[in-house]
Amino acid sequence: MENEHKISILGSTGSIGTQTLEVVRAYPNFKVMAMSANSNIELLEKQAREFSPKLVCVVNEEKANELKIKLSDTGIKVVSGKGGLIEAAVYDDVKTVVTAVVGISGLAPTIEAIKAGKNIALANKETLVTGGHIVTKLAKEYGVSLLPVDSEHSAIFQSMQGFSHSQINRILLTASGGPFYGKKRDELLNITPADALKHPNWDMGAKVTVDSSTLVNKGLEVIEAKWLFDIPVDKIKVLIHRESIIHSMVEYADNGVIAQLGVPDMKLPIQYALTYPDRLKMTDNALDFTKYSKLTFDEPDEDTFFALRLAKEAGISGGTLPTVFNSADEAAVSLFLGGKLSYPGISDMIARAMSAHKNTDDPTLDQILETDRWAREFVVSNMER
Ligand code: NDP
Ligand code: MG
Repeated sequence: MENEHKISILGSTGSIGTQTLEVVRAYPNFKVMAMSANSNIELLEKQAREFSPKLVCVVNEEKANELKIKLSDTGIKVVSGKGGLIEAAVYDDVKTVVTAVVGISGLAPTIEAIKAGKNIALANKETLVTGGHIVTKLAKEYGVSLLPVDSEHSAIFQSMQGFSHSQINRILLTASGGPFYGKKRDELLNITPADALKHPNWDMGAKVTVDSSTLVNKGLEVIEAKWLFDIPVDKIKVLIHRESIIHSMVEYADNGVIAQLGVPDMKLPIQYALTYPDRLKMTDNALDFTKYSKLTFDEPDEDTFFALRLAKEAGISGGTLPTVFNSADEAAVSLFLGGKLSYPGISDMIARAMSAHKNTDDPTLDQILETDRWAREFVVSNMER
C-alpha cells in the first residue's frame, strides 16, 4: 500500500497495545509487522488473526509453544523469550516500534530497536527511568526519534512545537492525584489492591494504576521528562489537576504558558507519536468545555505520597539510583497485588532500597540489569510479613 507505515507493537495485549491496535484499525495505512505478549496467548492469537503480522513473540516459553500450534495454519512466525522480544523490536522494514510492555523489560528491546534504526513511540517510561542516558545518546547517534506516548509527555512535546528549548522556564507536569488524593498516611494502612486499582480518570494496566495512586507514576514521569526533553529535575514542577483535562504545560521565559488539553483518551497521544508532525482525524473525543465548569490545581502532598520526593532525589542523582527506585517499586507492587505487602509498604520498600544502595554513575546496561536484580531481591528479602 502507498504510504504504508510499518510498525511493531511490543506489548500488544496490554492497555496501550490494544489502544494502539484501535488506531491501526481506524487507519489502514498502518501495517503491524510484529507484536508481542508476555503470556496472554488467547488475545494475542485473536490479534494475530486480525492484523496478520509476520512475527509474534510470547515471552513465556511454554505459552509460546502453545501459540505455535494454534497459529500453525497461518504462516505467522512465533518466537519466545527475551531474544524473541528483540526480534519483534528489530523486525525488517519496521519504521516505528511502539514500546508498550510494562516495566524494565522494555529497556533491552528499545536499545536494540534504536540500533536497528527504528523510531520509538515510547510508552514504556521505565526504559528512560533506568537507561535514559544510554537510550537518548543512542537515539542521537542513530538519528532516530523518541516520540512520547505517555499523555503528559505528549502534551509537553506538543506544547514545545515551534518554540525554542533555550527559552523554557519550566515544565508543569500535571497529575490526577489518584484515588487517594487528600488522604493521610494513617488512612492508607488498609488500602486493598481492589481500592488501588480504581483510577478516577484513566483505564490502564494494573502496575501503572497502582503507581498512579502512590505518585510513583508521577515520579517516574519526572525522570522520563528529564531525559526526553533534556530538562533538569528542579525545572519540572508537578501540579495536581484532578480533572485530567490539561495533560501538561510548558512555561517560557516571558511566563507565557502553553498547554495541551483534551479528554482523557490515550488514542490521541498514541496516534500523534505515530504520525508526528501530522494529526489524524478523531471523531469521538471532542472536549466539551461546558462539562467542566472549573479546572482545579493543587500542590502534591509529598509527605504522605513521599515516593514522588524519592523519585526526584533519584532523578537528580542519576546513575543506578533511578533503577533502584523503579525496580523496588516493580517488586513491591507485585507483592502488594499478591496480598503479601501492605499499601504503605510499597513506598517504604522503595525508600529502604534506595538508602541501602551504593550508587554507580553512568551505568552500562549490564550494571542496570544487575541493579534491577539487586533491588527486587532486596524488597523480597526485607519486606514486612
Ligand atoms: P499492561 O499491563 O496493560 O500491558 C503490558 C503489556 O506488556 C502486555 O502486553 C503484557 O503481556 C506485556 N508484558 C508484561 N510483562 C512483560 C514482560 N516481563 N516482558 C514482556 N512483556 C510483558 O500495561 P499498560 O499498557 O498499562 O502499560 C504499558 C506501558 O505504558 C507501561 O510502561 C506504562 O507505564 C506505560 N503507560 C501506560 C498508560 C496507560 O494508559 N495504560 C499511560 C501512559 C504510559 P500479557 O498481556 O501477556 O501480560
Ligand atoms: Mg502519564
